[in-house]
Parts: sequence; structure tokens; C-alpha cells
Amino acid sequence: MDKNVRPLCTKCNARPRAVAYKRANKIYWRSLCDRCNRVKANKKVGGVTVLERSGYKKLKKCELCGFKAQHKAQLDVLFVDGNLRNVANSNLKTVCANCQRLSSVRRLGWRVGDLIADD
Ligand SMILES: [Zn+2]
Ligand SMILES: [Zn+2]
Repeated sequence: MDKNVRPLCTKCNARPRAVAYKRANKIYWRSLCDRCNRVKANKKVGGVTVLERSGYKKLKKCELCGFKAQHKAQLDVLFVDGNLRNVANSNLKTVCANCQRLSSVRRLGWRVGDLIADD
């Protein structure tokens, strides 16, 4: 088999198999995907992220620009230090989608221009 092709899980046939180990640049796969492995080991499956486990609740408005959301989907949680595992309260900020985009622009080292629209 082509070593670049990741085989599918033998149980669900839907997800790629989990990595077992690598040796001499060759990847060896387990027979099951991560999810089926977890099911087999009687572990919890499903989307509980580190963030959800931290119990952090988004505020009703953006902490950067003060935008008041009509729906919580308009607000995101921003990790101040960029580390998605750091869920200390001081590392989490509620920001609106606009500010979220601005923050990723700034991380690239780009500045937002000061041009004023003249239409
Ligand atoms: Zn599977
Ligand atoms: Zn904002």
C-alpha cells in the first residue's frame, strides 16, 4: 500500500485510522480511528474541548469594541497568548467576529490602514 495513503478505520470505515507509531519514516497505523479506539476503551467521545471543560462563559458583548451581540454566534473566545490550551480566565476574552478577524490580521504583522473611505 502507498505509505502516503492513510487507510480507513476497519470498524466505521469513515474516519482515518489513528497513528500507532512511526519507524524509519514509515507510519504504522492502528486498525481503528481515534473515535472507535475511544469507544472501545469506554472513554467519552464527543466534543468536549479544553475550553468547554474550563466552564468559561462568553460575555454578552465584545471586550474589545463593546459590540453588543444579538446572538452568541457573533462572539468568539480569543486566547490572548494564542495558546488554545491555556484556559486561565485572564487568557480568555470575548470578542466579536470583527475583532477576531482583526486580531488574526495583527498576528500576521499586518496593520490596518488608516485610509478613510471617500465615497
Ligand atoms: Zn472508526
Ligand atoms: Zn469587537
